[in-house]
Amino acid sequence: MLNINNLTAHYGAAQALFGVDLQVKTGETVALVGANGAGKSTLLKCVMGLVKPSGGRIRFADRESTAKPPAYMVRQGVALSPEGREVFAHLSVLDNLHLGAVPLKLARGELNVRLEEVFSRFPKLKERREQLAGTLSGGEQQMLAMGRALMAKPRLLLLDEPSLGLAPLITDEIFTIIHQLARAGTSILLVEQNAARALSASDNAYLLANGRIVEQGISTNLLNDPALRSAFLGAASQDNPAASRLGAAGLTNIRLEKPAMYQQNFMPAFASAEELRNHQLAGLKWTLTHAYEGSSFYREHLNGAGISPEQVTSLDDLQKLPFTTAEDLRAGYPFPLRAVPFEQVVRIHASSGTTGKRKVLSYTQKDLDDWTHFFARCYQMAGVTPLDRVQIAVGYGVWTAGMGFQLGCEKVGAMAVPVGPGNIDMQIQFLLDFQSTVFCSTASMALLMAEEIHRRGIADQIAVNKIIYGSERSSVSMRRKISELFGGAELFDITGLTELYGPGTGIECSDHDCIHYWADYYILEIIDPETLQPVADGEWGEMVVTTLCKEGAPLIRYRTRDITRIIEGPCSCGSILPRHSRIKGRSDDTLKFRGVNIYPSSIDTILSAVPGLGSEYQIHLTRDQAGRDHMRLVVERAEGVAEGRTPELAHEAVHQIKKQLMVSVELELVHYGSLPRSERKSQRVFDSRLEDDII
Ligand code: ZN
Repeated sequence: MLNINNLTAHYGAAQALFGVDLQVKTGETVALVGANGAGKSTLLKCVMGLVKPSGGRIRFADRESTAKPPAYMVRQGVALSPEGREVFAHLSVLDNLHLGAVPLKLARGELNVRLEEVFSRFPKLKERREQLAGTLSGGEQQMLAMGRALMAKPRLLLLDEPSLGLAPLITDEIFTIIHQLARAGTSILLVEQNAARALSASDNAYLLANGRIVEQGISTNLLNDPALRSAFLGAASQDNPAASRLGAAGLTNIRLEKPAMYQQNFMPAFASAEELRNHQLAGLKWTLTHAYEGSSFYREHLNGAGISPEQVTSLDDLQKLPFTTAEDLRAGYPFPLRAVPFEQVVRIHASSGTTGKRKVLSYTQKDLDDWTHFFARCYQMAGVTPLDRVQIAVGYGVWTAGMGFQLGCEKVGAMAVPVGPGNIDMQIQFLLDFQSTVFCSTASMALLMAEEIHRRGIADQIAVNKIIYGSERSSVSMRRKISELFGGAELFDITGLTELYGPGTGIECSDHDCIHYWADYYILEIIDPETLQPVADGEWGEMVVTTLCKEGAPLIRYRTRDITRIIEGPCSCGSILPRHSRIKGRSDDTLKFRGVNIYPSSIDTILSAVPGLGSEYQIHLTRDQAGRDHMRLVVERAEGVAEGRTPELAHEAVHQIKKQLMVSVELELVHYGSLPRSERKSQRVFDSRLEDDII
């Protein structure tokens, strides 16, 4: 949207800018950070046409904009909220606002519409509309300066030092509004001395020193880079504020109370695949000895298979070991697989099993510390920092979910908002009032929230930019929908199961095409659930895990029933941690339909690829008098898709299912929103064939 090339500017003989290149893309917030006198304001004034550049080029929306007059720039869609507010002290709030739209020569009606929009964003200005601007507080004057710029309905808003001289609370308020403007689609070029604040509020950033760009990049990277932090941001957290370049220039930093948090790294230390294998082998040997000596179950189990721990001397020997299953856990109720004395058990968790006995797992303090550590790693991989506010909307209590999300969040240093599941009204209120930036829930709950946010029309008033969800399969279209209705939030699928600590044993990376898993804590194998033999890398099969340092209830070749596959080769995100595909389903929930094995997720995938269909669906399986199976799909049309398109959509979906799964189905399309939503896992498969048989 804004392209600045090789820009130079002089004040008389003094040069203020030396060949600056800078870009703002549509919808992006870009921060320009630097000390007093670095040239930041000069750059904004050049863009606005208030200072004539001495060289270089400015293009706005693909038009030549170098040295155009300010009124022209306003008409093109650029507005400036200047440093020091520059409100007209002897004019009323209303008159000041009107001035922002003068170059546009608007009709009275349109002017009033825009006034109301500004007032809805800044209710305080409405209260004080007749008051003289000079009598407003500093924060209110800043709001007025921003409101005046917004009267021009800019496509690009230039904000010069919006927090300068304001109390922290007022600064928070101003930044909340900046965030909302960005979410409503306004591109923003933000000039700030408060580097940490500006970086955390922007997508990309440029650091300007003495009229030159000295550093640029993705804001969170700059914020988290330890070298950059110590060079640019760290000084104020130390005794000697002159120690860094920006510190020397008197730059401020927020959240100084936890400066070390940024330096924390939860990624594993191994540098090569070989180092990892050595670590795994040592862990495997330890686990076998520990389990054999500490757990009567494992001693019998291994004896039964004719294996003793010392026979395992390489990672390949893993395949000689017997599997452990969910049935083994249930049979050992109430403390199955326990391999330490009770005085070392500090907590238990249980699975949410609805049939039979629950799977109960014992944890030592070290187990909890390990879990906390790698859960923090999940947050780190998702880019969560101590500046984030994490609203945790998963279950607390005997389930592992809430505890894991909570401990990991605190470890990272982010602010946890532990709400628990459900309670939509309170969730929404907290999203608005606390401006939570990360939302953690099941996929179903995230969809429920997304639709509620959409229904209330508040997407531009919330601050969520990341959604971490797990414990449930999610289709591509469901993910798309959640992200869209949350105002473009980034989704991260997190994996885990109670037997293996809990959630957080792996997470999707920023490339969004795989799950990285924590191979320094467990070994992952993929087997064919029928033959129980390992499958080749890249092929789908059941995930089997062996823990490497779990004390309370170690797992040896535990069959998780989750279906996934190994993704070979390095990830483009740069992480050396190995990866697998998103969980496709469970080996015990494939549907057998007319002799064909179908994972419900393949239906997800096919429906997601038909434009016009919604993300919600149900699969109904029935058996007729003649013993013939029928599959009926009930699928929602996407929001806003006309009922008249039903035959065409139904035909396409049935055709694609026939083509890809080789089965014939009946399909019923229903209105958007008519299928039940659940904050827990939505039931999608309704198999009444067994009951039919019994009847
Ligand atoms: Zn990756």
